[in-house]
Amino acid sequence: MKRPMKKSVKIILCVLAAVLVIGGAVGGYVGYQHAYHPSKWMAEGDDALPKIEFEEALGQLPMLSDSWEEALPQTEIRNLIEAHFASPLPEGKTAKKAIVIGYDGCRVDTLRLLPTAKRSAINHLLDNGGQGVFGYCGGVKYPAQNVQATSTAPGWCSMLIGKWAGEIGVNKNGQPKPLEPKTLLLSLVEDGTVGKSAFYVSWAGHFSKKNATYINEKNYAEENGVNATFLRARSDEGTKSNVISDIRKQDCSDFIFLTLEYTDHQGHATGFGPQNVRYVSAFRDAEATGMDIIDAIEARASYGTEDWLILITTDHGGVGLSHGGASFEERMTFIISNKTILG
Ligand SMILES: [Zn+2]
Repeated sequence: MKRPMKKSVKIILCVLAAVLVIGGAVGGYVGYQHAYHPSKWMAEGDDALPKIEFEEALGQLPMLSDSWEEALPQTEIRNLIEAHFASPLPEGKTAKKAIVIGYDGCRVDTLRLLPTAKRSAINHLLDNGGQGVFGYCGGVKYPAQNVQATSTAPGWCSMLIGKWAGEIGVNKNGQPKPLEPKTLLLSLVEDGTVGKSAFYVSWAGHFSKKNATYINEKNYAEENGVNATFLRARSDEGTKSNVISDIRKQDCSDFIFLTLEYTDHQGHATGFGPQNVRYVSAFRDAEATGMDIIDAIEARASYGTEDWLILITTDHGGVGLSHGGASFEERMTFIISNKTILG
């Protein structure tokens, strides 16, 4: 015979259940907190950058050669790469190569952290004859109202096609680019400027989903035997290893485009901007990874006879936990080169 449960037993069971639920939630939160491991490339003071207004911060970036009012459109990236391949080989050089190292969602005011960096790809380029300038995304310079979203797909696509991606219907993530106009990944190979190109990422939205931005280009390259590699890894570490294993080959890709998600991921998870120590940590990781890639380039046996263009840039900034909008913080970017950018 089933005996009814005593009221006191019911209360004890309820309390036990509540303890389990609350304990699980707290445990999960603590676990999440513990899941964060600061980058080993963090510098002293990374958790205490003085908070200043964004515009004031833009005035405190002496490593950039221009002012934010003179910022270059991010579409200029394509022109820089085409001009590099079109220019005559310098004395003693026999081959041209180019690489774009993309830090996704890296706010330009994060460059305030460069002076204290322990390992920095950007500092390396600037200290060895390079130049850095302000850039902008969104189709038109701040404070004019932007005409395309400050999002990932339109940002990188504007660089790769050399015109604002919104004009060809890539105004947000999840909108496949029409095959034409082709990006540099295909056009440089098809017009014979280079032998082969490669696009390395970990974000599925580039070319690993049905509605991915470059899915038409990836399919076209495969179907028509165009020597352009589209390779997605599971993480930034995987992207780094794919890029470096390409660079270590004697006949490595002539044009390489890659994106690292460190800063964008941390921005969405905990906040964009150099006041967030976790975002700073992500920036330090991106910079150390960029330097690992440049080290691999400079270690090539044929490096002495190669003329490399190395660019580091970002697709958009961010504010709070997101980007895509019209704010100053989302609109400003940067372009760093191992060569002179401004005439
Ligand atoms: Zn992005």
